[in-house]
Amino acid sequence: MEGSPGSPLDGISEDLRRIAALLGAVADDPSAEGARDELESISAELRVLITRHFGARRRAAHGQGARGAILAHLQSKTGQWVEGQELAAISGIQEWARRIRELRVESGYDIEEDGGRYRLVRAEPNADAAGKWGTANDIRRRPGSARDRILQFLIAEVGHVVTRDQLDYVAKIKEGSRRVRELRDEEGWPIESHIDVAFLTPGQYRLVSADEQDRRDPRQRKFPEELRHRVFERDAFTCQSCRRDRAIALTAGDSRYYLEVHHISAMAEQLDALPSEELNDPGNLVTLCHRCHSRETADFQRRRRSERGGQPITGQAETPVEPDD
Ligand SMILES: [Zn+2]
Repeated sequence: MEGSPGSPLDGISEDLRRIAALLGAVADDPSAEGARDELESISAELRVLITRHFGARRRAAHGQGARGAILAHLQSKTGQWVEGQELAAISGIQEWARRIRELRVESGYDIEEDGGRYRLVRAEPNADAAGKWGTANDIRRRPGSARDRILQFLIAEVGHVVTRDQLDYVAKIKEGSRRVRELRDEEGWPIESHIDVAFLTPGQYRLVSADEQDRRDPRQRKFPEELRHRVFERDAFTCQSCRRDRAIALTAGDSRYYLEVHHISAMAEQLDALPSEELNDPGNLVTLCHRCHSRETADFQRRRRSERGGQPITGQAETPVEPDD
């Protein structure tokens, strides 16, 4: 049906066929000179035609239309990487980065970023992610170094998994992961990665505890990541002293459980002097939880003091000395 008399659709069929014929001509020889100009002209004519027959489209609230278009496009390619320029073409705006931010922060869509490409991880938004991105957005505006802001974010999300994208976003640089390693190795914050636990994937991190007592032994940095991972994996991510793994510890209400590498034959301060073959020999290394490792160290020091005639080591006097059997 062509539309009743006086309808806005009067004549649309003729107009569309005429445009189709113009398109057909270009299709016959797309390499002809001026083909592009011709297509632009046809495109403009089509827009005019649409407005004439269907009326002007009601303008979406500022940015909403573009944001919706970006979301719909990402959803149609959930799990796949999409170039920023493609989002610009889809939405007709160049400010796609800002719309992505809104989708994350305000709506909770989990969108990863990698060098100007974007990937929607799940088609549906999630409240937890919205909360995290909201926190990240808040901390991102604060003054201070990238490392300061990353630490604030980790503390705000203590016990929860955060992603490299969120850290980069908070830091306003692409070096979020490096700053995390510095916080862990130089300041001893117990930050887990896929090295330490089986359930994290590369690019995911978790601050176990912000409590001063839970800081890592600074000498943990002596053991390279690859070696730590090998030892933890060999020991099934289970403390070889108390036999707890993270699941058991969590069930028992201990959310501050994390793993450290323990050197079986050397004391902490002796590690500095060990030749690297002996230091890094997995046969000398065993997985302990932080709690057992601290206790083991204290026990060792106590035994040694006792062997030396019960003289407390300077600076260690606060360690309770119990009588040995
Ligand atoms: Zn333990």
